[in-house]
Amino acid sequence: MTLLRILTGEVGFERFADFLGMSVKEKEARRIALSESYMPFKVTEYYANLIRAQDEPYRTQLTNIVLPPVGKKPFKGRFDPYGNKTYRQDEKAFLQHKYEKTLLLHIDDFCIANCQFCYKVREIRHEDKKQITLDKKIDIALDYLSKHSEIDNVLFTGGDPASFRKTDDLINLIDRLIDYNGIRVVRFATKGLAYDPERFMDKALLDFFSDINSKQNKQVSIIAQINHPAEISETSREAIRGLQNAGIQIRGQPAIIRGVNDSVNTLIDLQRSFLDNKIISYYLTIFMPVRGVEQYALPLDEAFRNIAESKRHLSGLEKKGILLTSHDFGKFEICGFYPTPENPEKIVLKWHQAAMSKYLPDSLKERVSTRPEDVLILNYKRGIMYCIDHVFRENGLPHFNTEGELVEEAETLASITG
Ligand code: SF4
Repeated sequence: MTLLRILTGEVGFERFADFLGMSVKEKEARRIALSESYMPFKVTEYYANLIRAQDEPYRTQLTNIVLPPVGKKPFKGRFDPYGNKTYRQDEKAFLQHKYEKTLLLHIDDFCIANCQFCYKVREIRHEDKKQITLDKKIDIALDYLSKHSEIDNVLFTGGDPASFRKTDDLINLIDRLIDYNGIRVVRFATKGLAYDPERFMDKALLDFFSDINSKQNKQVSIIAQINHPAEISETSREAIRGLQNAGIQIRGQPAIIRGVNDSVNTLIDLQRSFLDNKIISYYLTIFMPVRGVEQYALPLDEAFRNIAESKRHLSGLEKKGILLTSHDFGKFEICGFYPTPENPEKIVLKWHQAAMSKYLPDSLKERVSTRPEDVLILNYKRGIMYCIDHVFRENGLPHFNTEGELVEEAETLASITG
């Protein structure tokens, strides 16, 4: 059976399910799970073939990236659990300056394939191919930079900025921004090395990267959304090597997702495969509480225990990834649980980075310190807390409810999980 290059929508789902040889029962269960997700189905032919070539459990784990698994939803999630949509700096809403030194450019709100657990579902499902031209976007970004000398790095994100951009456009985009005086690094967040690795074998793009990386104090870095060791195929390896030969540092930033990479063995394989492919282990980010696909969630204590167990089997270089849980207020490192991760009564969080002060409610700043070195030791209930909203609510701290409204008074956890 042959496939189109990209499978989308209902027809795409049918073809994909048949291509994988799903039973009638599984197909029906997956169809229902997909109908409850807000993310449209989309997968590349390359990735469908990659899935079909796997043995279990990898085959199911990879399938679960592009199709929601069947499973219990332990709470009701919300849209935009990272403030991705609300923290935008311009009327066209593609600039985001949430953290002091970093400017995010949401180049395109669409991807070449869709991860069903993505926290940007509200943006991506509309696939808003804005009328604003790329040149205009760069002009607006440069104007913003000229007024914010504190920014020294730019992060291209989306969607996936590698999705459909022509090489010339990408080069123009990166070139004009990296040339800007105060900018030292352009980061490029992409899942292209998993969904469409050949995209990165483009000679013109690699030559351009080599040229940039030979300049003093300038570099392009790739933040790779590689969630599973099987995503590093032979083709992907070749693309990774090509980028590395062009001087690009690649950092692995997997989301930790139930049914995909929550098993200890898969986590070990994933972190090992990063070292074997010279990918720097960066953040391990816990699934954010996205509406419609809550079956992907892991309680924070369970995610911590699985990561901790995996790290017991790894060398120092392999276990450098930091376990984070992210939120509108910023990124928190999960340092541990007291008295033990198996029987937790307290969670120990450290601000990895708080959002800029103007984005934090006064009621939060009055009650907790938000420097990166500050630690929060908060009450915790085993097995029922999946995100910062749950923990903060239990502790009477400001948080967001399932409708995305800021709640500043204490409420009981029961109404979140009920
Ligand atoms: S590639 Fe990234 S932005 Fe696109 S759907 Fe997946 S996680 Fe979301």
